[in-house]
Amino acid sequence: MAKSATKKSEQSGKPQAFQAEVGKLLHMMVHSVYSDRDVFLRELISNASDALDKLRYEAIANPDLLENDAKLEITLKPDKATKILTISDGGIGMSADELSDNLGTIAKSGTQAFVEKIKDAPSLIGQFGVGFYAAFMVASKVEVFSRKAGSADGHVWTSDGEGTFTVASASDLSRGTKIVLHLRDDAGDYLEDWKLEEVVRSYSDHIAHPIMLQGEDEPRQINSASAIWMRSKNEVTAEQHKEFFGILSHSPDAPALTIHYRAEGRQEYNVLLYVPGERPFDLYDPERRGKQKLYVKRVFIADDAALLPPYLRFVRGVIDSADMPLNLSREMLQNNPDVAVIRKAVTNRVLSELKKCAETEPETFKKIWAVFGPVIKEGLYEDYERRDLLFEVARLNTTTRESITLKDYIAGLKENQTAIYYLTAEDANKAKSSPQLEGYKARDVEVLLLTDPVDSFWVRTALGFEGKPFKSVAQGTADLDLIKAKDEPENKADEPAALNLVSAFKNVLGDRVFDVRISKRLTDSAVCLVNDGQMDRTLEKLLSRQADSGVAVSAPVLEINAGHDLIKALAKLAEKKGASSVDDAAHLLLDQAFMLEGEVVAEPNDFAKRLAKIMITAFG
Ligand code: ADP
Repeated sequence: MAKSATKKSEQSGKPQAFQAEVGKLLHMMVHSVYSDRDVFLRELISNASDALDKLRYEAIANPDLLENDAKLEITLKPDKATKILTISDGGIGMSADELSDNLGTIAKSGTQAFVEKIKDAPSLIGQFGVGFYAAFMVASKVEVFSRKAGSADGHVWTSDGEGTFTVASASDLSRGTKIVLHLRDDAGDYLEDWKLEEVVRSYSDHIAHPIMLQGEDEPRQINSASAIWMRSKNEVTAEQHKEFFGILSHSPDAPALTIHYRAEGRQEYNVLLYVPGERPFDLYDPERRGKQKLYVKRVFIADDAALLPPYLRFVRGVIDSADMPLNLSREMLQNNPDVAVIRKAVTNRVLSELKKCAETEPETFKKIWAVFGPVIKEGLYEDYERRDLLFEVARLNTTTRESITLKDYIAGLKENQTAIYYLTAEDANKAKSSPQLEGYKARDVEVLLLTDPVDSFWVRTALGFEGKPFKSVAQGTADLDLIKAKDEPENKADEPAALNLVSAFKNVLGDRVFDVRISKRLTDSAVCLVNDGQMDRTLEKLLSRQADSGVAVSAPVLEINAGHDLIKALAKLAEKKGASSVDDAAHLLLDQAFMLEGEVVAEPNDFAKRLAKIMITAFG
């Protein structure tokens, strides 16, 4: 958002409008479309905990920020007389500008699109960090008192969630943030000690800072405040994992896979990572950033330390190092050798856990692969070192089998088969009905059907697997001569006549084709298209849609099936009446081949005229 020339802090007390998206989000909150209102407390406690983490981190370099008060706690204070619930933290706090920026806009990328999306499907809101604004699910008015650590000035942000908010000066504030919720009549439960305790226990028990309840009795701590990732694996229940994963991912679902271990040796660290079961809405965010948090000795350091490669960006969780220096600056993380060691080991571990899951829990893995397979496959061309490991994880479909590994494919090779055959296509149905597959089917040769855009990229750079190169069935000539067909073809071809037809076609089609030749891959269809160049047509089409790729779709090779009745008839006609007698047929067959590829006919007018001419001869 563009900052105005006057500092916002100088517009003390003047109503400011919420960013349009926030307005929409607030409207949804106020009208409480999201049934599980308890999450408001989870969100506010989570913000308070982040604020304490930030202060602790900053105080490493600047201990004065602690102002002789090193107590890092969150306090809940219900007051039945005034129907007010207060949530306060002694954390980093916010300046006046931060109050109006953070609590007036949504800065996160992809959020605007998301708000549009949830408008029509409000139940999705749980997937998203409803964050601070969730306060308006239960409160008709919210005040946020805040004093930034190290600053003398305090401010108060106030809003009833209906379009505007104000920020004004406030005095005598302690460090950090105090959120005052004027509860709605139907939210009286949140003034009861038992209710607050129940919600904290189910949603916020993992919070590493003490959460104090200052209710009817003496203040007491109501969470266990032991970071969940520091506990040993068998001490944590599935329910607790679900809660913690919920906080990290804002998802109401349980994670599909939990990876929890302690590494010892040259580097000591605790790892708690989750693979979600559902697709996060920002999976294809161009930033391709991971969401793993780095802690050092339970002090939060960063959540963008790139602890896993981009193709594992959907994995959420925490890595807590026992021996890295606390004063590690965020800028230094990228090149830090300790981080590099952890990154390498944890990446390998995640891949081997995925592999294990694929082998021992195929149903669970199927769901993971359906959502994240296309992302994991990015690793096949980005992470050369782990390509073989990734191939053990990857599950692929073929003309005859589903969800197999490349090892399975190799085990099913036919005698004399020297390559791993594949076909790229834009969708599975198109792939299955491709004429290019016919010769392979006739020989019982299995072909990988690669239908994700990313497939076209990795399959070109991967050198092969177990000594067998990858070979596109739609590129170059088919090398099927050595593999025996199941049955002899019924239609014997007249080779010399077919060769004449090839030159007649070449002549009339000119630039529309790169070449015309007799096919070894067709058995049923009359014609098909292949490419002879570096790329197959699927990749050319993909790249040509990107304005800056400089790639155009090239003229294809037209292959004709010399054994097909139509081709034989045309060959005879050309012999008897001369090459020009098959001109229209040549163009029509090429147009038809384009259509089978899902492409549009370049000159629909010419196509229609030629077809009409031939129909008149047939029916006229
Ligand atoms: P999120 O926490 O997902 O970023 P929120 O809407 O909950 O989104 O909060 C927006 C921002 O407001 C936070 O990123 C943080 O910078 C600031 N904020 C919220 N609560 C606090 C708090 N208790 N102390 C300090 N800053 C806070």
